Amino acid sequence: MKVINTIAEMKEARHKLRGSVGFVPTMGYLHEGHLELVRIARAENRNVVVSIFVNPAQFGPKEDYASYPRDTERDLAMLKKERVGIVFMPSAEDMYPPGYSTWVDVEKVTERLEGAVRPGHFRGVATAVNKLFNIVDPTRAYFGQKDAQQLVVIKKMVADLNMNLEVIAVPTVREPDGLAMSSRNVYLNPEERKSALVLYKALTLAQKLWNKGETNAGLIRKEMSSLIQREPRAARIDYVSIADAETLEELARIDRPAVVSLAVKIGKPRLIDNIILGA
Ligand code: AMP
Repeated sequence: MKVINTIAEMKEARHKLRGSVGFVPTMGYLHEGHLELVRIARAENRNVVVSIFVNPAQFGPKEDYASYPRDTERDLAMLKKERVGIVFMPSAEDMYPPGYSTWVDVEKVTERLEGAVRPGHFRGVATAVNKLFNIVDPTRAYFGQKDAQQLVVIKKMVADLNMNLEVIAVPTVREPDGLAMSSRNVYLNPEERKSALVLYKALTLAQKLWNKGETNAGLIRKEMSSLIQREPRAARIDYVSIADAETLEELARIDRPAVVSLAVKIGKPRLIDNIILGA
């Protein structure tokens, strides 16, 4: 496994690769969710490149950039075990040198949900992912369904800018009790860890109501919200949404594939999760 720390070296190494390249961009502090992306990339491509880059441009001034969990040694050991060919770990200075001034702004689908609560977040994500795509030049790039809006934004960017790669969505990997795996789960104390299950419980409730034939999105949102409000450690609900899976516009009636998503602050971290209905 080659560990590459500069953009110039990564471009050179890419040049030497023959056959398809599967790319998995991450912010590190890896878990089984990330490894699932890596395994699928490995099964579908001759070469696999994983990037680890905590992208400062996607964190707001009051967010957790400085304290975002990091453990490079552990990450590299995990990736070596998965027989990854190249790990790319650029520095923030290499990615955004002094005078850096070009940004990728995907409109509309970034306005709501995470985009509304975290202004500038998706501009940072789209810019970094675009740069990584230019550097790694992948055949296929793998993203988790866990970050449903990110996936919509990246797919839109790739289509709108005619980028020559395929974006592959990977289903959310969960803990045995249903909690979606996330690097930020490490912030949860044991009590909060129990409370964090309320996100999955709310999504399961939506799925049950839908299975019974309920299509009134407002009613399902209300049932989900009141379930979460009954959880004492759920400090704040940022949103409970049922939206068109492609445009992310809020639905009154679930008459097409819909993404049910939510963001809830539990203790220190803000957790997000989602499921798709009717796909
Ligand atoms: P992150 O390191 O949080 O930026 O995530 C890197 C990639 O892993 C993104 O495409 C995420 O959507 C994906 N990912 C994170 N958690 C999970 C999970 N529990 N299941 C599947 N994919 C995930």
